[in-house]
Amino acid sequence: LNEKGFVFILNNKSKSSVFDDWIEVKIPFAALKDQTDPAWKDMLIKPAPSGGVISGGDLPPLPPWNGPMRIALTFDDGPHRTNTPMLLNILEKYNAKATFFMVGAQVARNPNIARMVAEAGHEVANHSYTHAYMTSLSSYEIVQEIDRTNAIIQQATGVTPTLFRPPYGAINDRVRQHISLKVVMWTVDPQDWKYRDAQRVSRHVISHARDGSIVVMHDLHRSSVEAVELILQYMTRYDVTFMTVSEMYGK
Ligand code: ZN
Repeated sequence: LNEKGFVFILNNKSKSSVFDDWIEVKIPFAALKDQTDPAWKDMLIKPAPSGGVISGGDLPPLPPWNGPMRIALTFDDGPHRTNTPMLLNILEKYNAKATFFMVGAQVARNPNIARMVAEAGHEVANHSYTHAYMTSLSSYEIVQEIDRTNAIIQQATGVTPTLFRPPYGAINDRVRQHISLKVVMWTVDPQDWKYRDAQRVSRHVISHARDGSIVVMHDLHRSSVEAVELILQYMTRYDVTFMTVSEMYGK
């Protein structure tokens, strides 16, 4: 529920990959005005608590919502030698759990960092081995990308990932046929790889967050890690829980 009306974010479970097919249905108040009590709108909309300005920034208030909000922060392309440990410290400080879609080749470079991520209670997940466009690979290469990555993550962390996110979001039915993992896309994208600006990135995430949002960011960039601190500093004042994708959507 926002200031304009209802937004239903539906998960089309008719597809085999349950996470990657979101449908957004908006019903503005204007469309309901002849069918509702005039007092109804005021009763339903509960503004976010005031005072939501963090030091050094002018972040917008959270959109109004009812009840608790659950958010899955996800980090792609790591682990990174210095930025990922810094991110882990921030997540721990705010008691937030997240999901890390790791690139196999990065795990090979930084296996100890991958292990730190898993030991801190975050979800480790598969983002291919070479960050290739899966849609341009042969069937054999697709399977290799997934299997090699799961193997090296298992070796480094002791955990076998159950989730996969395709690099660049590039996926089609042919690729899906070769993937036994759950495919996870995202619903909020601050484009942190492009805008290396913690204020801008955090503002985007805060203003687009909804209950059930999956936020995509990248732990390769220092500015993204700084954005996470701004997001958590601000949002944890409210009834917001940061959890892993599997915690939020079930195993
Ligand atoms: Zn990526």
